[in-house]
Amino acid sequence: LFKPVDKISALMELYPKGMAGFKRFTELLDVDPDVQDKPGAEIVESLLGDISFSKVSFGYDDKRTVLNEIDLTIHAGETVAFVGPSGAGKTTICSLIPRFYDVTNGSIKIDGIDVREMTKQSLRSQIGIVQQDVFLFTGTLKENIAYGMLGATDEQIYDAAKKAHLESFIAGLPDGYETQIGERGLKLSGGQKQRIAIARMFLKNPPILILDEATSALDTETEMIIQEALTELAVNRTTLVIAHRLATIRNADRIVVVTEEGIAEQGKHDELIDQGGIFANLHRVQFQR
Ligand code: ATP
Repeated sequence: LFKPVDKISALMELYPKGMAGFKRFTELLDVDPDVQDKPGAEIVESLLGDISFSKVSFGYDDKRTVLNEIDLTIHAGETVAFVGPSGAGKTTICSLIPRFYDVTNGSIKIDGIDVREMTKQSLRSQIGIVQQDVFLFTGTLKENIAYGMLGATDEQIYDAAKKAHLESFIAGLPDGYETQIGERGLKLSGGQKQRIAIARMFLKNPPILILDEATSALDTETEMIIQEALTELAVNRTTLVIAHRLATIRNADRIVVVTEEGIAEQGKHDELIDQGGIFANLHRVQFQR
């Protein structure tokens, strides 16, 4: 049905290379020696998005354990922001959910089903990832947005663009949705690319969302527009945010503070500030300069 190159490009969009901690897309093509479907693995669809980590331990190699007996429950529809020092394991926790790696010990269940009992493809169809590096290919804006859902109708594409706050930008272009982007076409800003990624997720409509927030600065207005679009995207989805921005952290239903020792604190923003612990400290250092 699809040309092989389309399949590869689609995977690049979902799992681009360069994402810190997430496997390179080439490793995610059909041969993936570490993570295989079990015989008789279940094809899951329409998951609710209840996620539970039970005594999860994980290391990238035998030499060092990155996660040690992590217990964590995330309820369907909840927005959880992961914060903590660089290298603590926030990205690693999130990358175990789509099974970019399998746990060394313990288990991760979604809606009560161990992720290792699901086919990789069906599991990943239920998870959307938005990150800083957005893969765009040479083609029109419309084609690039439509990548979120092969076979999307024009109406669905326009609706997704609207929800991602791309409408007025596109309306201002002489060729609108037919504008060529990529190598020889229109160059897009970081904020515009991110909104394309968000539009793709509105089309994909997964119950679980992983947002790897950009660390690089966007201007304040763009930042606000993106934040607004992401907040709308998170509605009715289980959303895990690898958080760097104050606004996301503030709006999260729960903040999980990850340190090298594991999950050190969790709770709502103001509760954690009042506790005067690690988060309160991080908050002071990182955000109130
Ligand atoms: P940051 O805020 O900098 O993104 P993080 O909290 O997301 O950090 P991780 O990226 O999960 O941290 O990294 C946790 C630990 O695992 C670090 O010590 C890191 O060096 C290591 N690590 C991450 N990815 C890999 C990998 N692919 N192979 C080997 N070690 C890795």
